[in-house]
Amino acid sequence: MQLIEAGQIIGSHEQTPADPAFAQGTAHTQGQYRPIDEGVVPIQDMGFIHADAAYDVVSASAGYLFRMQEHLDRFNASCEKFHLENPYTDEETVEILTNLVKLAGLRDAYIWWAVTRGKMLGERGSMEFENRFYAFVTPYLFIMNDEQRRNGANLIISQDYRRIPPDSVDPTAKNFHWMDMKLSVFEAAGRGGDWSVLTDGEGLLTESPGCNIFLIHDGVVKTPATDCLEGITRQTVLELATDLGLETVVGDVYASELESCDEAFLTSTAGAIMPASHVNGAALAPHAGPGELTTQLHNLYWERRWDGWHGEAIDYSTPVAGFELAHPA
Ligand code: PLP
Repeated sequence: MQLIEAGQIIGSHEQTPADPAFAQGTAHTQGQYRPIDEGVVPIQDMGFIHADAAYDVVSASAGYLFRMQEHLDRFNASCEKFHLENPYTDEETVEILTNLVKLAGLRDAYIWWAVTRGKMLGERGSMEFENRFYAFVTPYLFIMNDEQRRNGANLIISQDYRRIPPDSVDPTAKNFHWMDMKLSVFEAAGRGGDWSVLTDGEGLLTESPGCNIFLIHDGVVKTPATDCLEGITRQTVLELATDLGLETVVGDVYASELESCDEAFLTSTAGAIMPASHVNGAALAPHAGPGELTTQLHNLYWERRWDGWHGEAIDYSTPVAGFELAHPA
């Protein structure tokens, strides 16, 4: 079976922006819809200064929002863990995100939103803040480029960085703490790899920058249970694997198991299932390239998405109510 190419995933769906200014994407900041490059953050926002924020990312494919309610539930849980309050209700949040997709006219979209601590109110040290909402939408994007997807990535298990412990920053709350992950990607590049995987420092795998990690060995699909974000794509892959009749295990996964498995892949909203071909430079299988079961999971994922599986159809026929471009071109 051949892996469905990125061009097929995103290229077959047209884009008709409400205004040419939205062709690169749209943003919603300070209560207004804007062309993406005009979306701004006030410099004193604590989200910017201290990474003091919660966020989430959902995607649209072929005009369907994917598992919106699950993303919203996870986002609300992240906000609660960080004592943040979304100034918008759930309904308003979904309306803003949908409007951003409609204004950009995208069928396949990457949809990001956050609530930051915002601006301090009153005296310093008062702990009173005006929490703020930000969102943007761009054409759908993949963490891995086409060549990496087609050939499978070389994953490097980081030696220099460990994933921040859950009792420092809770990884189940989607957060802006990225420096351990970012620096591990530099390490991976320095070691000739494409992307990194982090352990807990004790030999157990956690996750990867922006992704969950999976391996397949003797037909069993395994992913770490803890010290990672409970990815919506991870959940989706566990369901797909079950539908394909594969055994799934969510538990402790050792770094050594990744080095000796049959197949491995990363999962993320930004790219869905991204196959690995090598771990620490060594090929996983004699043929290298994406594994057979990974390819089956990957293709099933996209075929179901195009059919609207777990999807909410976006109504592109109705204009965005009350919308006027702030600065007409
Ligand atoms: N782990 C981390 C650290 C992430 O940032 C992400 C997504 O951005 C994921 C895992 C994958 O989660 P999901 O599949 O919900 O996008």
